[in-house]
Amino acid sequence: MSIENRHIQWSALKQSVFDVVVIGGGINGVCLYHHLCKQGFSVLLVDKGDFAGGTSQASAMMIWGGLLYLRNWELLNVRRLCTSRDRMLREMSEWIKPRRFRYIPVHGRGRAALMHAVIHFYWLLGGCRRLRPRRESDFSERAFLNPHRCDSSITYEEAFVEPSDARFVLNWLLPYQNGVQIALNYCSLEGGAFDRTSREWSLDLSDSLIDKHGCVRARWVINAAGVWTDGVNDQFGLVAPSRHVLSKGVFIALKRDQRHQVPLLFHTLDNRDGMSLIPWGPVSLWGPTETVAHTAERGYTIQPEDVRTLLNELNRHLANPVGPEDIVSLRCGVRPLAVDRLHSDGCDSIRLSRRYRIHPEAHVPWISVYGGKLTNCVPLAREVVGLVKKAISPRYGATSMPKCDIPDPRWDSFPHLHEPIPSARWCADREMCWTLEDYLRRRTNVSQWVARGGLGRHDENLPHIIRLAKCFARDDDDVARKTVMDYRRKITDTFDRILAIC
Ligand SMILES: Cc1cc2nc3c(=O)[nH]c(=O)nc-3n(C[C@H](O)[C@H](O)[C@H](O)COP(=O)(O)OP(=O)(O)OC[C@H]3O[C@@H](n4cnc5c(N)ncnc54)[C@H](O)[C@@H]3O)c2cc1C
Repeated sequence: MSIENRHIQWSALKQSVFDVVVIGGGINGVCLYHHLCKQGFSVLLVDKGDFAGGTSQASAMMIWGGLLYLRNWELLNVRRLCTSRDRMLREMSEWIKPRRFRYIPVHGRGRAALMHAVIHFYWLLGGCRRLRPRRESDFSERAFLNPHRCDSSITYEEAFVEPSDARFVLNWLLPYQNGVQIALNYCSLEGGAFDRTSREWSLDLSDSLIDKHGCVRARWVINAAGVWTDGVNDQFGLVAPSRHVLSKGVFIALKRDQRHQVPLLFHTLDNRDGMSLIPWGPVSLWGPTETVAHTAERGYTIQPEDVRTLLNELNRHLANPVGPEDIVSLRCGVRPLAVDRLHSDGCDSIRLSRRYRIHPEAHVPWISVYGGKLTNCVPLAREVVGLVKKAISPRYGATSMPKCDIPDPRWDSFPHLHEPIPSARWCADREMCWTLEDYLRRRTNVSQWVARGGLGRHDENLPHIIRLAKCFARDDDDVARKTVMDYRRKITDTFDRILAIC
């Protein structure tokens, strides 16, 4: 995909009337896009940044039944999440893999027996479809855990997205890219209006990639803008019965001890929540925190306090404590939690349900999506597509839309990474990857797996990154060098400075 193609796409966009426009290229938007395309609808998806550039790049990547939600007695939701997890394991075995998890009880408080019963109940609630939970006291992770706090574990089975949540998002999009089913990143919805005579929306879009503004027409709009859903509805004067509470979640990534093989789940110090140590390639992710954020912007900003909390929690469980200097990368997302519109502020987000809600407007063809997780993106999409299908028929037959096979990428290597990564040129040509940051953060896991956003502890990877940047700078050395210097400044602000005061 080139900038020239993007201009060509725009001339086609302006002449079309899409069946559906989807706002938001996070997991909810893309899964919806995929299911609508599969049914033969003509669909345009837009995202104001890169696909998965919001919360869908910052999850724990677990496809799980929601063991922790049992604390709120969300039995029905947990059952549904388990069903969705198992279905994904069956139908998407390329992307979703079964994974054993290990709960580590703190001994001496009778917690082990209680948690064994709870995890057993969880397994029953999930229809006994995963491995039966069992106690284990001989396991490799014990070697680096605090021997005074840990002497046993309970294993159970969930699933995990591979190789990352951001790639999971991309996988839904890539098969449907043709003249009438189009996904555009770096294109935001700015406003619009509904014409009651033609019964069509006209939507104002702004494309920051080619600096273009234009209007497209659509019969239906689906607002799947994650934590920005309320803001998008406000722009159109729409008021849904739900709203979002924003819950910030931060992880730190540390170099993985080779003995760390399966995700470990611990209770937090105050016993109200759980935190996990998740092996992911060369790092172990630890977190997440859970705190209410009053704006999306604040939610996406990591504070030194978040890192201190995570280090304190982790060091209770480790035999050898770690510090800020051991942190390879930071990771932050904002959970969109659906509550009633009149729900009072000042709530404790841990107590809020993780159920999604779908709100079709009564008088205009517009659907808003609230909540939603990686784990239940498919049932959510099927429900929304069902509503659209009741109102309009797809313009094309379900079998007439060309679905491209996703070929295996061309592989490359990165200094000190054992895992091969898709090459920058491949991602630029085939995967709508426009910037160095898209490549390092979402097409590959380099900026999460290699210290300081891939630059290395002492900038030792700078020359390699300048070479990569050329793929996104039309092979212009000066532009590539400037891009990397801007990237380095960003890493100083969002990583080095935070850790320096932790
Ligand atoms: C720390 C953490 C851990 C989590 N772990 C898990 C887990 O293990 N398993 C699980 O199932 N779930 C997990 N979740 C939940 C899950 O990640 C989120 O609920 C999910 O990613 C939300 O997806 P979304 O599509 O609604 O939002 P997003 O991914 O935020 O996507 C919304 C998109 O809308 C775009 N947008 C906004 N406004 C506009 C506009 N005007 N025009 C165009 N585009 C716009 C944004 O750019 C953004 O890309 C976790 C969440 C967090 C924070």
